[in-house]
Amino acid sequence: MGPMGPMGGHAEPTLVLRAGRDRSLRRRHPWIFAGAVADVVGAPEPGDVVAVRSATGELLARASFEPGSGILARVWAFGDPDGAVPAVDDELVAARLEAAVGARAPLDARTDAVRWVHAESDLLPGLVVDRYGPVAVCHMTCAGAGAHRNLVARWLAARPEIGAVVERTDRAGRRRPTGTPALRVLAGEWSGGPVIIHEAVPPGAPSDGERGDRWTFEVDVASGQKTGFYLDQRDSRRLVATVAEGRRVLDLFGYTGGFAVAAAWGGAAEVTTVDSSAPAQALAATNLAANGLPPARLVAADVFTDLRARRDAGETYDLIVVDPPKLAHAEAEVRRATRAYKDLNWLACRLLAPGGLLLTFSCSGAVDPGLFQKVVFGAALDARVDLQVVGRLGQPADHPVLLSVPETEYLKGLVCRRAG
Ligand code: SAH
Repeated sequence: MGPMGPMGGHAEPTLVLRAGRDRSLRRRHPWIFAGAVADVVGAPEPGDVVAVRSATGELLARASFEPGSGILARVWAFGDPDGAVPAVDDELVAARLEAAVGARAPLDARTDAVRWVHAESDLLPGLVVDRYGPVAVCHMTCAGAGAHRNLVARWLAARPEIGAVVERTDRAGRRRPTGTPALRVLAGEWSGGPVIIHEAVPPGAPSDGERGDRWTFEVDVASGQKTGFYLDQRDSRRLVATVAEGRRVLDLFGYTGGFAVAAAWGGAAEVTTVDSSAPAQALAATNLAANGLPPARLVAADVFTDLRARRDAGETYDLIVVDPPKLAHAEAEVRRATRAYKDLNWLACRLLAPGGLLLTFSCSGAVDPGLFQKVVFGAALDARVDLQVVGRLGQPADHPVLLSVPETEYLKGLVCRRAG
């Protein structure tokens, strides 16, 4: 398509880049910052498709217009192998949904809770879709994703697994007038009640034979964190279940008990979970009981303070999970965040018994895996313990990292063993 669009001869709105500012686009990075744009031709509305041209007029991409955010446009279509830039229409979006959900099919045998669409990684900028059993929870963080809301809802509702499609409307970057609910129903019947999800227990995890081969979680899709559950820790939950037997477990930032359930299922001698959110702790208790597991010690407290008290009391643990929220939201926060990561890991090292395991995570994309490892090393050094890395953890297959968009890599974890 040339600059004259198909609609009654109106010119397709176009962003013209500054000279030399087309490099990241040619490397198929989809974010166009305002500083790279010389001119906006036409009068695009937020979410409209705009053509993106180099300073010399070459058509490079089609993007959604995102005024008012730091990123002025997000690319939905780059040149295909023939050099043509496809139109961003229902057909393209439906094909990408199909590809994304189809790629998750191998997980179906293991769980009914899967990230079906992981935004930029699935070539659907700003669109997240998490499937929790019969409920598809959408989250749209840019105007371009919102422009496809009806199509996405119809497409998801047509899937045989799905009875309701809902949208979480409360995340960063979206202004919400006071009193507007954080969740709205886009399609189907939504009871508003709890959603129960299932995950296969890993082979090798001890089980008393009566509990079956799946653990369950109740997910609060209406007001829980993210879209309700930490799907990205699925593989790490499985690991915890296989190493917990006989260990005294300390689960820090436990949320609704993902790691607590895994540890208890795996035969932990005892489980202590610390989180500042009382509703999350209540759901953790529900989740343990629903799986027929012994109750954990649920501590509603600030982890930083709580750990100092445990250190002063001389407590030790054989398995410590450190899974804090995102501590660096941007490059500018990395220094402060690394201090907090170091403090947490230093305290965890102090509480780790010889031979004990430390599973420590960072979900801050701005803290890269190399830096994170240095921080954990610094923490061990200050605590005067020797830590061996015996495993590395990251995003599961339904949270893919797109190589052209390094920002899609955020979750990393180290499995460390205290030597000696
Ligand atoms: N491990 C969890 C996810 C943790 S998300 C899982 O696998 O499901 C981060 C959690 O940290 C949230 O539940 C939040 O309530 C809690 N949190 C954030 N800051 C905290 C603090 N300073 N002290 C204790 N909990 C905190």
